[in-house]
Amino acid sequence: MSYQHQYVDGTRIHFPLGKVVCIGRNYAEHAKELDNPIPSEPLLFIKPGSCVVPLEGGFKIPTERGSVHYEAEIAVLLGKPLSTKPTEEEVLDAISGYAPALDLTLRDLQSKLKEKGLPWELCKSFDGACVLPPFVSAGAFEDVKDIGIRLTINGEVRQDGNSAMMLNPIVPMIQHMAACFSLQAGDVILTGTPAGVGPFEVGDELVLELPGVSRFESRVL
Ligand code: ZN
Repeated sequence: MSYQHQYVDGTRIHFPLGKVVCIGRNYAEHAKELDNPIPSEPLLFIKPGSCVVPLEGGFKIPTERGSVHYEAEIAVLLGKPLSTKPTEEEVLDAISGYAPALDLTLRDLQSKLKEKGLPWELCKSFDGACVLPPFVSAGAFEDVKDIGIRLTINGEVRQDGNSAMMLNPIVPMIQHMAACFSLQAGDVILTGTPAGVGPFEVGDELVLELPGVSRFESRVL
């Protein structure tokens, strides 16, 4: 099933899917669980739009390339371009909506790439590596510094975080990203994952939510 940006009420969002700009190690407890140092500067990487699939109805994972880890993350959809040095107001004005997303990672492969100092595309950019549900309009959020993110698998809460725990909060993070490369309407920002990552198995039933805002059920096919 091909992906198209939309809001939870089913309204289609007209700008096309762009790139997915991600930050690594943005929650201290998650950096610690994978034995990674906390970076002195934001650790950024990009997933291509081609890897995005919709959450609803279930999604496939690669089954012959080692462990496929889930990373539940707050996704931010941009509805306006940002570049160089946007102000806090410009960043907030450019945000169209928020959703809970999955940044899927071939973890065994990533460990090998990290050992050799190689780039992460092979473990982060495969088809299906970014799973997105519909967005809730930004107007529904009072405080960008207090957005929850929760992933429940087979009835057990595995990840439960909040944007208040981010080492780089959402607005300064996007300001930094825009200074590194132009952001466009239709781009998605993945804001890092809280602790609790682990492998998906085919058949897992999951609930992915921004608690109190949006909630989606899905399964690993
Ligand atoms: Zn991630």
